Amino acid sequence: MKATKIVIIGLGVSGFIAAKTAKKVNPDAQITIIDQKEYDMFSACGLPFVMEGVIDEFDELIHSLPLEKMNMVKLLKHRAVSIDSGNKVVTAVDIETSEEKTIPYDSVIIATGCFPFIPPIPGAHELMNRGVFVVSNPENAKQIVDYSKDISRAVVVGAGAIGLETAAAIAAHNIDVTVVEMLSHAFPRAIDPDIAKVLERSLKKSGIKLMMSATVEKVSGDDRVTSVTVNGKSIPADMVIMASGVRASWDLAKDAGCEPGNWGIKTNAKMETNITGIYAAGDCVETVSPINHKLWMSQLATTAYRQGIAAGTNAAGGYETYDGSLTTFVSVIGSMEVAATGFNQFFAKSAGYEVVTGKASGLTRPDWYPGAKEITVKVLADARTGRIIGGQAVGEDGAASRVNLISLAIKGNMDLHDLYSAEFAYCPAVSETYDPLSKACEFAIRKMKK
Ligand SMILES: Cc1cc2nc3c(=O)[nH]c(=O)nc-3n(C[C@H](O)[C@H](O)[C@H](O)COP(=O)(O)OP(=O)(O)OC[C@H]3O[C@@H](n4cnc5c(N)ncnc54)[C@H](O)[C@@H]3O)c2cc1C
Repeated sequence: MKATKIVIIGLGVSGFIAAKTAKKVNPDAQITIIDQKEYDMFSACGLPFVMEGVIDEFDELIHSLPLEKMNMVKLLKHRAVSIDSGNKVVTAVDIETSEEKTIPYDSVIIATGCFPFIPPIPGAHELMNRGVFVVSNPENAKQIVDYSKDISRAVVVGAGAIGLETAAAIAAHNIDVTVVEMLSHAFPRAIDPDIAKVLERSLKKSGIKLMMSATVEKVSGDDRVTSVTVNGKSIPADMVIMASGVRASWDLAKDAGCEPGNWGIKTNAKMETNITGIYAAGDCVETVSPINHKLWMSQLATTAYRQGIAAGTNAAGGYETYDGSLTTFVSVIGSMEVAATGFNQFFAKSAGYEVVTGKASGLTRPDWYPGAKEITVKVLADARTGRIIGGQAVGEDGAASRVNLISLAIKGNMDLHDLYSAEFAYCPAVSETYDPLSKACEFAIRKMKK
């Protein structure tokens, strides 16, 4: 293979694996990686757990990568500012010296991730870092930990994974936490209200207050945050965490002429944009759902990793495709695990499906075995064919493993009977004779027969 020049913009999950894969596919490839950070990589998914105190130091989430040993050029503290697809050069600026560098490429991979979205709430931008924070990197997560030391009340805006994991982390330090969510229930884009109820009950028991279908209208304070106004009512607050979603970092791609989609950069299955030789991967791209092959967004480390493999392979001259994401995820909030895959009822109906569901609660082990935990599992299927299109689970243990099985069933085009009849291993120390997942499928099958 010829010595392809590959430039990768962004040394995060997708950029790193793209680089590694490209080197494997084409050991002669000349790879340059550009990132604006001053260190190589960090595990964002671990941030809430450092804030909680489960992991001691933020430094444990920061990884240094032996890229130079792999014969790659690493340009840290450099921001890529343009991609000239006509002359095939990327321009990057050294953040410290403002020096401009042009780097020629045969292929470029845009792996620029996303940034936290802060809604235009009066006071939110003005009081940023003076009580208002986001959670996206070790620096801002550490700011939250430091600020939390002398406060007693916090409001978290958004009941998605980042919001709730952060809420639980802060509450663990005896801070009174209220979560405000605009939509009707926790994880509104991933799970259904009935599954959310189980989680919400547990959160309330742990002392976290929830305000659902509620809007933060104002953040107030002079030097520091002192209150927020929610649905017309003022709530005292010393700190506000904005966990109101993220947006793709796609300006660089758009300026280069890459076609934008609804929520991220458009690519084909090879993760190539509309411009030959420009690939994109991770949180900055829009993907498809493998269920109906329609546009879908999945901003997860797992998705970024797989997309990075495809982008890196193709950029280096190999061939690999990525066929979309079910957004299979798990989140641990205090003592609860919540997981989901595929469509929830809202998205299934919006996609035109008539949905049949089966839901079962049970134990993860026999009730006489120590450590048996309650779990609730739900499957969603196309009512016309029985084909599985989604699943959710919530409990103190085992939610991820059930949802992973449902994810496999969706990918394998299985119907309810297939999953119902699947054999699961049993030993009282780890499982039940008849798993709640099988029970959920059984209930859905009964409904289909009616
Ligand atoms: C608090 C938190 C918890 C999370 N928990 C989970 C979880 O449990 N499970 C899960 O699957 N996902 C989780 N995620 C999401 C996961 O971290 C992301 O999906 C993943 O990091 C995306 O990888 P990426 O390669 O697209 O982007 P990133 O890893 O964010 O990397 C993008 C990189 O691009 C760089 N960059 C951007 N623009 C430029 C430019 N112009 N020039 C140079 N460099 C640039 C940035 O500095 C950054 O390093 C979590 C995220 C957060 C914030």
